[in-house]
Amino acid sequence: GDLPGPGLQLGVLLGDGIGPEVVPAAVRVVDAALQAAGAAPVRWRELPMGAAAIASHGTPLPAETLDVLAGTDGWLLGPVDGVAYPEPFRSRLNPSGALRKHFDLYANVRPARAFGAGRALCPELDVVVVRENTEGFYADRNTHAGTGEFMPTPDVALSIGVFTRSRIERIAVTAFELARRRRRHVTIVHKANVLPLAMGLFRDVCREVAARHPDVVVDDLHMDAITVHLLRRGGDFDVVVTENMFGDILSDLTGELAGSLGTAPSLNSSDTRAAAQAAHGSAPDIAGQDVADPIAMVLSAGMLLEWLGTRRGDPALLDAAHRVSAAVRSTVAAGVCTRDLGGTASTTSYTAAVLAALADPS
Ligand code: ATP
Ligand code: MG
Repeated sequence: GDLPGPGLQLGVLLGDGIGPEVVPAAVRVVDAALQAAGAAPVRWRELPMGAAAIASHGTPLPAETLDVLAGTDGWLLGPVDGVAYPEPFRSRLNPSGALRKHFDLYANVRPARAFGAGRALCPELDVVVVRENTEGFYADRNTHAGTGEFMPTPDVALSIGVFTRSRIERIAVTAFELARRRRRHVTIVHKANVLPLAMGLFRDVCREVAARHPDVVVDDLHMDAITVHLLRRGGDFDVVVTENMFGDILSDLTGELAGSLGTAPSLNSSDTRAAAQAAHGSAPDIAGQDVADPIAMVLSAGMLLEWLGTRRGDPALLDAAHRVSAAVRSTVAAGVCTRDLGGTASTTSYTAAVLAALADPS
């Protein structure tokens, strides 16, 4: 909640794969940034979630975790590798989706800004993908009856897309309000040529919201076409608003165009809560090797500080958020980065460099 206190209370959910490597890095960076900004320290609450929670609590998302999170100011959420869970958990809504549903974290905001001389495939890129997080083509993750996918016979699988006016409207408002704080341009991404009802509704409701934001330029592109335009002229995009699955796919593309998916942050939010979660997944192929890039998780934590600072009107939190991104950018600019960005730093040594930059920002 929003009760005034000595400092923020934030949950920490390490998650699977590289989560236990990158989430603690983000915790240390937040501590250092708050200290540098003269803000009160965080009271961290580490909570069970994911494969480790199956081992310790017999479920990937214990009720106790949900209860405690409800009383925090927000949380850092590690990645989830639900397909690696034993049955029956593999077939169920994974804990990341369950958290989004439980707290109605409907907006998934995923910025991608080019990193590093020579590394970014699109050096001009500075785009934010605003992904609807509760329905669309991932309706199975959260709807309604939890029956977004089913098999009427063993040889036929049906997957339902769900598009609801009120849910489209609120994500469009998120996108247009964000654009007002940026370069005042929103691109609606859809596929209304093939799916005229579902995606036509998505496009049309976004356009209705656009009409209430006449100071923001609006255009729209089909999902397939925007992949081409991002590669050819990525610098022209400001805010992109789209449905759940398209946003998942598009943000992998924009993250990699910016330099590496390992740098792509995200913030899941409702009107009252927010959770920092890297845009990438659990990266099981590199887990446990101390090579994962912690930037995505660190910048996600910075987004959470900015969100909380804006909500509370707390300049120290805004200052801390700014310090996080400045420290990340200055270390990469100095050539210190993990191998996904072409460097040789480990997760540990890169994090140490960011902490050093926070302690001495000059
Ligand atoms: P999910 O379904 O959970 O989104 P995914 O199948 O999209 O998972 P990711 O786990 O995001 O896959 O990984 C995609 C690729 O990006 C993998 O090769 C992975 O190693 C790489 N990758 C992801 N995150 C990082 C990171 N933080 N640092 C370096 N490489 C990463
Ligand atoms: Mg993915």
